[in-house]
Amino acid sequence: MEIQSTYRAVQAVSPGRLELTQKTLQAPGPGKVRIRIEACGVCHSDAGTVEGSFPINWPRVPGHEVIGRIDELGAGVHGWTVGQRVGVGFLGGSCGYCEFCRGGDLVHCLNQEYTGVHHDGGYAEVMIAKASGLVSVPDELTSVDAAPLLCAGLTTFSALRNSPAKAGDLVAVVGIGGLGHLAVQYARHMGFEVAAIARGRDTAELAKKLGAHHYIDSVASDPAQALQALGGAKVILVTAAGGNATTATFKGLRPNGVSIVLGVGAEPIEVSDMDLTFAGRELTGALTGDPATSDTTLRFSALSGVSAMIEKVPLEQAADAYKKMMTGKAHFRIVLTMS
Ligand SMILES: [Zn+2]
Ligand SMILES: [Zn+2]
Repeated sequence: MEIQSTYRAVQAVSPGRLELTQKTLQAPGPGKVRIRIEACGVCHSDAGTVEGSFPINWPRVPGHEVIGRIDELGAGVHGWTVGQRVGVGFLGGSCGYCEFCRGGDLVHCLNQEYTGVHHDGGYAEVMIAKASGLVSVPDELTSVDAAPLLCAGLTTFSALRNSPAKAGDLVAVVGIGGLGHLAVQYARHMGFEVAAIARGRDTAELAKKLGAHHYIDSVASDPAQALQALGGAKVILVTAAGGNATTATFKGLRPNGVSIVLGVGAEPIEVSDMDLTFAGRELTGALTGDPATSDTTLRFSALSGVSAMIEKVPLEQAADAYKKMMTGKAHFRIVLTMS
């Protein structure tokens, strides 16, 4: 079989501009693999690359929800095989020797690159990835279904799994968008009492369908009071971007509850010292998760039937897909397909 020496990719070339291009096929370096991509999710964090809010060396191919098959192994890669279906998420792979890696905290590795930020990501037919960041994909999941679970899925699954909530505890999910619609499903399948919080009545029915026991309209009522009326939340997962959503719900925590921020926005979070000290409440954030938790996210999703609501778009229409996501018109995750 003759292997083509070029492949198609969509790259960011200047703030807000994506263009289709041909790139030359490269061999994977030591510790890396080359992947034939089958699907890549379009995520709000791609804006860091496309708009240049991260320091970016343009041109750069965005995309960090990548599923594909390994077609070549670099030197020294163990445990992965050519033809194997793998995933690549936002964290590009840990180094194995820094202080945090040595302590078992792979997420905060000091030498970790971000996929689609520091090196080319998944808006392409081919990419090179570090083996230490690869995720194994269960056969039960299609590549399209698995892609958004690598970022939106992992972020919400990992935060809930590492939270202090136990079965039967009240867990609130703020925002029913790309992250939130997965968070509600995971929370339900993990055995929590689930309250979904969003603006207006439009998402009430959907939230219930996804598994929420309660729906709180944050426009019509004070969401913190509504949570207290239910006994107070052990965990509030803030998937909506912006500090206001965190501020508005924080007092809905029961004593020793924790509010976990997953969305990133410009507004500051305002929390009074009284609310922290008198009830021992905590405020924290979480960034995706480690590769083993990614494996578990995909396996748990396959076992429980949790899936993202997905719109498929061919790779060459990536610029339109990105625009649709940025203007909040995506239902709920867009996945680029390469065939
Ligand atoms: Zn993402
Ligand atoms: Zn490290």
